Amino acid sequence: MNEKQIRDDFKLRLAGVEDGTYSFSISCKKEFFELAKISNIEDGDLKLQVEMSKTEKLVDVRCHFEGYVVAPCDRCLLPVTLPMDIDERLIVKLVPTVEEGENDDDDDIWVMDENTYELDIFQFVYESIFLAMPISVIHEDDENGNSTCDPEVLKKLEELSQKEEEKEKETDPRWDALKNLKFD
Ligand SMILES: [Zn+2]
Repeated sequence: MNEKQIRDDFKLRLAGVEDGTYSFSISCKKEFFELAKISNIEDGDLKLQVEMSKTEKLVDVRCHFEGYVVAPCDRCLLPVTLPMDIDERLIVKLVPTVEEGENDDDDDIWVMDENTYELDIFQFVYESIFLAMPISVIHEDDENGNSTCDPEVLKKLEELSQKEEEKEKETDPRWDALKNLKFD
């Protein structure tokens, strides 16, 4: 699939579409994540169920995402599979003329010209997945509380932290001199 084909999946046609409720299913797989470059997601398989209700003045888009994404572990860099189950909603007001400044980027309500041919939800889907990502991606501990990260990397990290500790233990003669200073 090329870029255009992937993007086309996210375009919901409005022109000539009668009022009513429509359902779509879009799948977000590796090609999508390669194109969208969301945070550090490398791969994934998300099924996106879209329900679009259209009236003359409003388009109400409800999205349900289910599946998983894959991102590198912050500690050992090996891939971590992150399950996702999200619901998001986008409301689009259809107006005869869109005034300048009417669209607020942070808003989940968009204002669009009533003659808009199609509604592109690519960016909306991108942001929904981005916001659902955890702040830190780390392999979970097993049932015994042991890290499931790459053992090689864990060993290296352990060695590094030991070296740091040893360094801290060595006393700096300048500190000793300062400690002996008396303030009267
Ligand atoms: Zn890890």
